[in-house]
Amino acid sequence: MRLLDTFGRVADDLRISVTDRCNFRCVYCMPAAGLPWLARDEVLSFEEIVRLTRILVEQCGVGTIRLTGGEPLVRKGIEELTAMIAGIDRSLDIAMTTNGILLEEKAVALKQAGLRRLNVSLDTLHADRFKDLARRDALDRVLRGLAAAKAAGFAPIKLNMVVMRGQNDDEILDFARLARSDGYEVRFIEFMPLDADGIWSMERVVASREIIEAIDREFPLEPVKDQRPAPATRFRFRDGGRGGIGVIPSVSDAFCKVCNRIRLTAEGHLRTCLFSIQEHDLKSLLRGGASDDKIREAVVAAVWQKEEGHKIGQADFVRPGKTMSQIGG
Ligand code: SAM
Ligand code: SF4
Repeated sequence: MRLLDTFGRVADDLRISVTDRCNFRCVYCMPAAGLPWLARDEVLSFEEIVRLTRILVEQCGVGTIRLTGGEPLVRKGIEELTAMIAGIDRSLDIAMTTNGILLEEKAVALKQAGLRRLNVSLDTLHADRFKDLARRDALDRVLRGLAAAKAAGFAPIKLNMVVMRGQNDDEILDFARLARSDGYEVRFIEFMPLDADGIWSMERVVASREIIEAIDREFPLEPVKDQRPAPATRFRFRDGGRGGIGVIPSVSDAFCKVCNRIRLTAEGHLRTCLFSIQEHDLKSLLRGGASDDKIREAVVAAVWQKEEGHKIGQADFVRPGKTMSQIGG
């Protein structure tokens, strides 16, 4: 049974937040003082995550899993969880989004556990600015983490850069150069209203189109056609240069019409949209003795009601009460 919604979309991409905790405090996500963390027993155990994932993979056609958070690498035993999920089905495409600070220690184990793809978030190449944006002095460690991930065989590694006007938009070309010199696929992400400090405004969003035009003037680009609908619009360098560019126009031209994603929060709630106002509590079912069938039915019913799309910029837009770190980006 596939996970179908009333707009005819099929959800086959599950993003699992393994923790709400994080060792960074990015200005576009968390407040400087951190957030009240979930108590340990409120967070799904590995067994609970794996049971739910197994139901969704074996009975509902989910084929892509992304581990995220919070910072997924701060969850103790993340390598074991990765291996447990990989053990569900050898053909599963398992990816992770991480801030990279612990990759130096964990890249090899993650590769061995069956992690296939890696996105590392990096918003600036200047150490001082990094300190301001992530509120941690950690650029060197993240760069060492990236080197370790490369050495462990992750390729191509994607870099996620959240572009904010007046803060790091002057580095767009530097990131394009980095893509070409080191073979990264750089993903420029539009800043979304999911920050804790309420600094988001439309004026701070740099539209994907503007980003592509700026890069194309310096390094001519050509579009890459994806087989399947994807949130990123991708480009390669016309001169055959290494690496690639992607933009995620989440605000200016949202991917909602073809969205195939669902999200499991660290406390075991299903979210059918990043901007959902309502969550579906699966943890109570998992802990209340519900059968696999009952859990599958709850997911099927929740996805059926998936929102048409977010309404950022429209009069009736309602901001979710959670930050990106609490949802699982
Ligand atoms: N901690 C990990 C990391 O930063 O890669 C994983 C979780 S983080 C919430 C997932 C992704 O969401 C990161 O690439 C981050 O840059 C992005 N993100 C966080 N807040 C955002 C916002 N307000 N707008 C756009 N992207 C955001
Ligand atoms: Fe942490 Fe990722 Fe949010 Fe930054 S974006 S505060 S690294 S969860």
